[in-house]
Amino acid sequence: MHPATVTVYRLSPACDLSDVEEGTIYVGRVQGFATFGTFVQLNDRLKGLVHKSNVRTDHQGGDDLLVRVKQIRPNGNIDLEEVILPEYEVKDVVKKTTVTRLCDLGSRIGRTVTVVGEIAQVKQTSGPTIFTLVDDTGTENAAAFVEAGVRAYPEANLGDIVQIYGQVMQRNSQVQVEVSSLSLLPGPEADEVRARIEAALDARADPPDVPLLIESEVMNLLRLQMREVAKAIRKAVFVSQPILLRHHADADGICSAVAIEQAVVSLIRESGGDFDADYFLFKRAPSKAPFYEIEDVTRDLDFATKDLVRYGQKMPLVVLTDNGSTEEDEPAMKQARVFGLNLLVVDHHHPDAIIDRYLAAHVNPYHVGGDYGITAGMLGTEIARMINPAIGDAIRHLPAVAAVGDRSEAPERQRYLDLVADRYTEDQCKDMALALDYEQFWLRFNDGREIVKEILDLGFDHERHEQFVALLVEGANAMIEDQMAATMPHVRERVLENGARLFLLDVEIHAHKFTFPPPGKTSGEVHDRLCRAQPGQPVVTIGFGPDFAVLRSRGVLMNIPRMVRELRSEIQGGGVSGGGHLVVGSIKFVEGMRETVLEGLITKIGSAELAVREPK
Ligand code: MN
Repeated sequence: MHPATVTVYRLSPACDLSDVEEGTIYVGRVQGFATFGTFVQLNDRLKGLVHKSNVRTDHQGGDDLLVRVKQIRPNGNIDLEEVILPEYEVKDVVKKTTVTRLCDLGSRIGRTVTVVGEIAQVKQTSGPTIFTLVDDTGTENAAAFVEAGVRAYPEANLGDIVQIYGQVMQRNSQVQVEVSSLSLLPGPEADEVRARIEAALDARADPPDVPLLIESEVMNLLRLQMREVAKAIRKAVFVSQPILLRHHADADGICSAVAIEQAVVSLIRESGGDFDADYFLFKRAPSKAPFYEIEDVTRDLDFATKDLVRYGQKMPLVVLTDNGSTEEDEPAMKQARVFGLNLLVVDHHHPDAIIDRYLAAHVNPYHVGGDYGITAGMLGTEIARMINPAIGDAIRHLPAVAAVGDRSEAPERQRYLDLVADRYTEDQCKDMALALDYEQFWLRFNDGREIVKEILDLGFDHERHEQFVALLVEGANAMIEDQMAATMPHVRERVLENGARLFLLDVEIHAHKFTFPPPGKTSGEVHDRLCRAQPGQPVVTIGFGPDFAVLRSRGVLMNIPRMVRELRSEIQGGGVSGGGHLVVGSIKFVEGMRETVLEGLITKIGSAELAVREPK
């Protein structure tokens, strides 16, 4: 009969006398000899004696051997006897001791502690390996050193649950544990810890109850979804998951993203970790189109996969604001899904249901009977306050800037303007919105993190903000005037079947190219001027180039996404795609089919219902 395998134990460096049990066999190491026996270390801090009558074999210093604990004396001395086993298995004894919570490390500087947590990042420096740990209370770093630039504990990887024993040090005003030992918790124990961390994080991530800044029926109905987005973002911060915030590159999109940025960055700073964590754990990136383009997702996946390999970072949580809710987003989202990215959307574009299969959460006023008048900037600001109420008053003017920037006509627009009337007039809000659009044009794909804060008066110097915005507005207006002077004389007018006034403008040949204002904004400016000249009339403006058209309208009940879908199936070889809001959007097609597509489009606009019928 084969005897059952005997289990022997190895004490981890964190273990002390309370972890030693009489009768148990341990792996020991010969430390030295005395006339009455052999001293054996059970770990760096525990030592026992094998009396010479209990020594079974010859040893040299440093040899490993098996010892059974005969007795622990009241004075702490450990009596051992050597045992010889033909066959045995070794199990590590992890200290069952008091584990220090990560949030308490700051008050334990200089002390030796045991911490348990999940590895949220593994970063190899030219010196030590830095493990970022997360537990149910916070995030801190642990530095392990074997040799300069050499990866310590290569068995410990992202997502593993580990127990670390070491000294708490302060490095550049940051708390860090200098690792004496690191061990992976065995499966069942790790599962238990993971479940505990998860439950605690879930509770901690629950956003505090913050009332909305203004009365809003639609946003009240969206509260649950907004809380869901806020919670997912808070959780990402607590587990050191990078957050990538993609937003439409216009004033509304910027306001919504900057509001969330302010909340997230301050929450990251509050939650410990590296002093520059807010830079590599949070990125904001503008998207040219009001949807998540393949170009965007390609860039994002490129960076995310590199950060994973190079800095041991988790894959990011992707938050899309002022874009992300239409079927045009689907191809990019399919790619994101292959890489397991979690996506959240905060948008006020007319949503296509198909997109929700890709999203962890989706805030959209259309879901509750609202419309685009509730702008992304309003939603983003309210969500930001749920993410971190500590940012307080700083961002409360962003919804007003977003509202005038996106020309919201919802009642919320005036309420947000009233809210900040003591600090900014409506014209000042408009100036900030125009300055954002203008500056973003020059920033191109860059986020302009600090410059944009300056424009939105989130910096430290209010006077400089005023000077800067005034200068940008002056520059923007000069260029707009220039563009209008060249463009307006070439606008062609038609009256459609339904009585709407249609204005057509070839922005390719009658507008400056590759400059400010770009075709979309140029058409918008033309449209605004024509609307003012035709009070009360239903007006549609189409600015077109060789292979695109931009639409603006007033008083005509259009559904641009649906018209685009219809044209795509009706016009063979037209290569039609596009979308946007119901009454503001853009269409792409192939150059050779421009006339056919435009005429098809105009026919559809001419048969749309009018919102208000003015007596002639
Ligand atoms: Mn918008």
